[in-house]
Amino acid sequence: MDWNSYVGHSRQRHWFRNAIQSNRLASTFLMVGPDGIGKRTFARLLAKTMLCTGASPSDFAPCCRCETCAQIDAGSHPDLIEIARRPEKTTLVLDQLIGEGEMRMRSGLCYELRMRPYSGRRKIAIIDDADTLNEEGANCLLKTLEEPPPGSLIFLISTSVQRQLPTIRSRCQMARFQALSTEELTLLILRNGLVSEPQQATMIASQAAGSMAQVANWLDEELSSFREELFDHLVQKPLDFAKLAKAVQGNMESVGTESQPRRERLKVILDFALFFYRSAMREGIEIESSGMPRTKASDGGFGRLSALDSQSFVSAIQRCIEAREHLDRMVSPASLIEAWAADLAVISRA
Ligand SMILES: [Zn+2]
Repeated sequence: MDWNSYVGHSRQRHWFRNAIQSNRLASTFLMVGPDGIGKRTFARLLAKTMLCTGASPSDFAPCCRCETCAQIDAGSHPDLIEIARRPEKTTLVLDQLIGEGEMRMRSGLCYELRMRPYSGRRKIAIIDDADTLNEEGANCLLKTLEEPPPGSLIFLISTSVQRQLPTIRSRCQMARFQALSTEELTLLILRNGLVSEPQQATMIASQAAGSMAQVANWLDEELSSFREELFDHLVQKPLDFAKLAKAVQGNMESVGTESQPRRERLKVILDFALFFYRSAMREGIEIESSGMPRTKASDGGFGRLSALDSQSFVSAIQRCIEAREHLDRMVSPASLIEAWAADLAVISRA
């Protein structure tokens, strides 16, 4: 991967190139933006740019031929330390930052950052899922952020500034990333071979709110069948809120008992509902004509919804956005589902 094959975020690229070339790169960055838009890949590319031995950082074009570039691509360069939330955990764990058991304070990201750089240049750390740092973890990291080892670079990757503790936020330079455009997403879908037909790629890209994570959700078979079921509930007028809440709750619980995966699943469901109301507002017919697998809802369900006036669609869309925001603020998912479904039912009777 190099900057030429990287898709999107040209404004951020220019910004970082200028900062590197004028030698005013901060040591700690908070990269904020939606899931699935390439923030982590961007941070890796910056690491490659800074560590490549075949080019100078100010070239802003890693050679992709040297040993360093190869090691970074393979995830094995000793000067690049990466951590992310382990899939089974709800948060980044302390072990990842300061080592575990007998190795406490003698391994982990904070320790490794202080080691002399293997390359003689610098150490770089990428902390993905920084939204899930708990207070204990954040406090450990704080010491490193207060006195970053000379020359080191730290990238925290986050979806929401609000999810960061003020003490962390205040020590980071902010880099905001926007969702990808439909054209950029189409290009990525085709390049990654997710579908082969350009028309189908564009159609999926237009549903996915600028995120490759949402593209994956649209292509997931199990989620597709639940999406149909969800649309069948949403299309009812008036909507049966108890049935809707039960179906959503059931699907959320199907991912296991851990709170983080459940929360992520609920986000996906709310995104589907948002898509439903937005499509219904545009009369929904495009869903079928653009080659989407037929669903009962797209077979004519949206037509039945036309009795809803446009103000009701706007209210339903706003309610879904609000539910998503509440979820980010760690509201209990079960009560969130109940309140959301009940409000949608009220809107459907308007
Ligand atoms: Zn190189």
